[in-house]
Amino acid sequence: MLPIFARTALLLDLDGTLLDFAPTPDSVVVPPGLTDTLRALETALGGALAIVTGRSLDVLDGFLGHKFVAAGEHGGAIRLTQGGPIMRLALPVPPPSWLVQAEVLADSYPGALLEEKARGFALHYRQAPEAGTIFEGALSLLVRDDPRFQLLAGAMVWEVRPVGVDKGSAVTTLMAAPPFLGRLPLFIGDDVTDEDGMRVAREMGGEGLRVEPVFGSPEGVRIWLRQAAAKGEWP
Ligand SMILES: [Mg+2]
Repeated sequence: MLPIFARTALLLDLDGTLLDFAPTPDSVVVPPGLTDTLRALETALGGALAIVTGRSLDVLDGFLGHKFVAAGEHGGAIRLTQGGPIMRLALPVPPPSWLVQAEVLADSYPGALLEEKARGFALHYRQAPEAGTIFEGALSLLVRDDPRFQLLAGAMVWEVRPVGVDKGSAVTTLMAAPPFLGRLPLFIGDDVTDEDGMRVAREMGGEGLRVEPVFGSPEGVRIWLRQAAAKGEWP
């Protein structure tokens, strides 16, 4: 059940939820009006709206053109107020040799892409689908002997990142601060890394919705959000 609109804290994933996937992570298109819709909702919810993404906050801000309250890097970087300072968790950095190996892997499959992050990296294979299982095998070997890191599956991407932070811990941190505190979280996401956020949202008495079965597509999410912003209640 959805929390009452006026008592909701809205937590939104970015890629595959607000934005359609594109051939490469850099080529996503931000639909006109999306930022306006989010800002209208932010106001209607007393500021209790946050983006929770695997991207860095710099990249997120560049896409949306507004510094929303947000958790980036799957919770490794958090901004609790609009335009405010970014808190970075003290997390391990992967050994440089792993990055070299990841680079070699990406170079071996035309279309594959290495995305370096502050505390990890991701191998994208949307344009090289045959590389998916190879990447999984190679990266599993790397993280197997280092308990500080984990391998996570995303949408046509394998990601190496530190254990101990995920979108669930990001939700916990966001919900502990005003104006989120005292509201019920509604988390909307599309993939396996979002399940942690949905689980924590439900544990707090809120709700977690998955894009595909509930909205059909990111366009479905955007329409729903636009209607909510216009009405001041859930459609
Ligand atoms: Mg996503």
